[in-house]
Amino acid sequence: MKVDCIFCKISSGEVPAKKILENDHAFVIADLHPQAKKHFLVIPKKHIQSVATAFEEPTEAKTILGELFALGYELAQNEKLLPGGFRSVINTNADGGQTVFHLHLHILGGEKLKDGFA
Ligand code: AMP
Ligand code: ZN
Repeated sequence: MKVDCIFCKISSGEVPAKKILENDHAFVIADLHPQAKKHFLVIPKKHIQSVATAFEEPTEAKTILGELFALGYELAQNEKLLPGGFRSVINTNADGGQTVFHLHLHILGGEKLKDGFA
């Protein structure tokens, strides 16, 4: 069954978006509604709903999360977010604030971020 998913459409090119970085497993776009001076999304090419569904296949989940952080780290270097630092966030399901149900890693930085999470 084909899911109607904005990040799958961006991945396939059906919806145009500038891919800032890309490899075989994942790609990076700028967030449409930035919550910091720099705000990126690292998105796996495969449609996986969330961290919770990813861990239904633990071995694959560990690999894909490693891939997301690896690309996030490459992005952080390219964007000169290091050594200053950056914040990485993955929201899971409604209580976690997830609004797009295709796994993604937020990378925020480019300034001193506010303290606090909730
Ligand atoms: P989350 O709340 O963790 O699911 O994050 C979803 C994020 O995707 C939000 O920060 C949105 O601003 C962002 N977003 C939604 N649609 C797009 C889009 N077409 N291009 C870029 N970012 C998007
Ligand atoms: Zn998707």
